Amino acid sequence: VLLALTYRKLVDRDFKVLSVIEREMPRYEYVPVEVIERRLRMPSIHVAMSLQKLNRLKLVKRRIGEYTGYRLTYMGLDMLALHSLVERGILQALGDTLGVGKESDVYSGLTPNGERVIVKFHRAGRTSFHRIVRVRHYAAEKPYSSWLQLAKLAGQREYRALEELYRVGALVPRPLGYSRHAVVTEYIEGVELYMYKEVVDPESMLRDIMDTLRKAYLEVGIVHGDLSEYNILVVLEDDRERPYIIDWPQYVERDHPSAEQLLRRDVEYVARFFRKRYGVAADTRKLIKYVKGE
Ligand code: ADP
Ligand code: MN
Repeated sequence: VLLALTYRKLVDRDFKVLSVIEREMPRYEYVPVEVIERRLRMPSIHVAMSLQKLNRLKLVKRRIGEYTGYRLTYMGLDMLALHSLVERGILQALGDTLGVGKESDVYSGLTPNGERVIVKFHRAGRTSFHRIVRVRHYAAEKPYSSWLQLAKLAGQREYRALEELYRVGALVPRPLGYSRHAVVTEYIEGVELYMYKEVVDPESMLRDIMDTLRKAYLEVGIVHGDLSEYNILVVLEDDRERPYIIDWPQYVERDHPSAEQLLRRDVEYVARFFRKRYGVAADTRKLIKYVKGE
């Protein structure tokens, strides 16, 4: 709710200031106030008032030193992404948070048509950033802007992968749009496989999962790379349990040097889960061959 409440406090001017800081960040660790003023056609008193407000809302971080400068925070980037999604009619409202992961925050949301969606904000470097800070007591070696850049890349990667996967009929959430590090997909009314009470037909579900991996491999040319019972959502559709595979930003291309190893691991994790929980006798080597179309 914090994101939605903060979003509503912003006016057009604030988004302009945020977006100038975003644009200049790769060039400056902290973008000097003079530069922000020069890039905006508005009275400097307005810029100053907006910066004050953005700083108070923790959307920017101020540094006072030889010069006063600002950089975006992740929440500042969230605001820019939300603004763009709203302007383009992809998103109407942001709801509760569904989960805070290591590398992402996931929220529920609504489209202008009232369709329930999820918004996933990627958060690159959150863990490693803190680790470096703890160890060294001074700023991380990597400039902050490059963490934001990585998060944006993850957003774009995940969106594009989902687009192609969805197009070839793989069981993945339908992608609706993205901006920067934020990806909007349909809300899957399901339960993670590891929490799901009791799969009625585990053999057939394992086959469905392998079919999605096969489509990803043969028709899109990618390997998920982080598959487990945590990234599979089980949905009951017309009395059939269907496994949707989520969380794709770390995928690798089929011809990537690690593709083979990652595919084996993906398949092994899932096969082991079905073996242990449901006693399914699955030959990992055969499954891998099936996925690869051999
Ligand atoms: P990460 O694990 O990297 O934080 P995920 O994409 O796995 O990111 O999403 C985290 C959690 O959010 C999932 O485990 C799931 O509970 C929920 N979630 C993600 N995508 C959807 C979706 N399309 N529909 C419903 N819930 C989702
Ligand atoms: Mn996940």
